[in-house]
Amino acid sequence: MLEARGLVKSYGKALALTGVSLEIAEGEILAITGPSGSGKSTLLHCLAGIIRPESGEVVLDGKRIDTLAEAELTRLRRENFGVVFQFGELVPELTAAENVALPMLFNRRDRQASMSVAADWLDRLGVSDCAGQRPGELSGGQLQRVAVARALATEPRVIFADEPTGALDTLGGEQVMSALLGAARASNTAVVLVTHDNRVAAYADREITLRDGAVLTGVTP
Ligand code: ADP
Ligand code: MG
Repeated sequence: MLEARGLVKSYGKALALTGVSLEIAEGEILAITGPSGSGKSTLLHCLAGIIRPESGEVVLDGKRIDTLAEAELTRLRRENFGVVFQFGELVPELTAAENVALPMLFNRRDRQASMSVAADWLDRLGVSDCAGQRPGELSGGQLQRVAVARALATEPRVIFADEPTGALDTLGGEQVMSALLGAARASNTAVVLVTHDNRVAAYADREITLRDGAVLTGVTP
């Protein structure tokens, strides 16, 4: 469904990706592991259309997306992709429910429907009691559950998660991870999960390890 073909990306003299190819199937949960600086975030950002590779291709449903014009790429991202980052990155001025509703509003759903779907997703992620609270009032684990609800609420084809439990303790991280992957599996959403935590990688269908910007191994746990 989503494919990287020979991705190369550098920052000045630092070569972050040296020609990475991989494919993600519909509903598949793929973990990308590797040491800090190995290119995990850069790969995820290229796949998600957040940054463009210098060479190589990103292909969704057989169609190249890395060469799309900015407006078209933004729309494609909104309709097909969801993202969860390490620190949630919620809008601080909005309540949890409004944060979850926001991407639906961008997709031109009306406000009432968006807020109702948002409430439903907060409930599924076990944080319905946080609906009216702002991010500053929430714990790290609650923030990440709200971020997961926001990512899933638009019913994306793929969720990109970069160290989504990196700021949480072990128990909190496991709860967020099982909430994320349980919800993704229930809705057949593919997940690209960047992590340096081997326990987290064990939840995936497949694991790819990066070292110095290249794929080291493909292991099926
Ligand atoms: P990881 O997520 O595995 O830690 P990254 O993809 O963030 O790795 O980084 C890969 C390499 O690219 C590293 O050497 C890093 O220092 C470099 N890099 C990443 N982002 C930038 C940036 N915005 N500017 C300069 N160098 C960067
Ligand atoms: Mg990173």
